[in-house]
Amino acid sequence: MDRNSAVDALVLSVKASGENNRFAIVLSPEKGIFTVTVYGGKKGRFKSLVSPYHSGKMWLYSDAVKKTVKLTDFYPDRCRTGIRESLYKTCAAALCAELILKTQGAVDWHTVWVLINGFLDGLDICTDEQAQTGLLRFLWRYINLTGLYNTGIRCSRCADKMPICFSAAENAFICADCLESSQEHTAGFFPLGMQSIAFLSAVLAKSPKEARTLQPDTESLRELRDFLYYIAQSCADTRLKTLEAGRGIL
Ligand SMILES: [Zn+2]
Repeated sequence: MDRNSAVDALVLSVKASGENNRFAIVLSPEKGIFTVTVYGGKKGRFKSLVSPYHSGKMWLYSDAVKKTVKLTDFYPDRCRTGIRESLYKTCAAALCAELILKTQGAVDWHTVWVLINGFLDGLDICTDEQAQTGLLRFLWRYINLTGLYNTGIRCSRCADKMPICFSAAENAFICADCLESSQEHTAGFFPLGMQSIAFLSAVLAKSPKEARTLQPDTESLRELRDFLYYIAQSCADTRLKTLEAGRGIL
């Protein structure tokens, strides 16, 4: 049945379709992820309106026979132009959008909607330095939502001591007493210092406002990036192109 509808939507990505039209991949808290055809994309008034990370009310026409969804109108109330002005922020937002697209169905749409909009709102107005920890907080929260990896920060073996590393092969945080030296050389082994462990704990246990106050040092940021990029990619079960494209930036 053909029908008109209106939904809250966030544009995750846009690509050209022929000379004039475009396909937008959007996220809606009610409908999840779907593709919308944007006609007259190059010249029409949707040209700048339908851009990545814009969100607002979207009017759609669904054609059940052709199995297409056409955009009839869009009123973005958040445009987050600050993201486009920074190369780092652009890469960070693209990584999160790709992770959501490649883990479709792993996380409840309403929860993803709140998480990604909060992240993008922060990214829009923060400094590049703050954006680095913002990205790490988003990834850890998202990994936690998928339920694919152990996110309880206690040694998984003795169920007691504070861990000093994570083993992806074992899906376990491990403390100094329980760690076997041979493990340190296996794939997916990540040493995590005290600052990194404190950061990961705070992101899930404390309020977003409190978690934002934690600023790990340079070495800890490197550790956290290695760990979280690897686990995020494992959750997606495929290579994340944005991580490769953003190498040296992210
Ligand atoms: Zn232990």
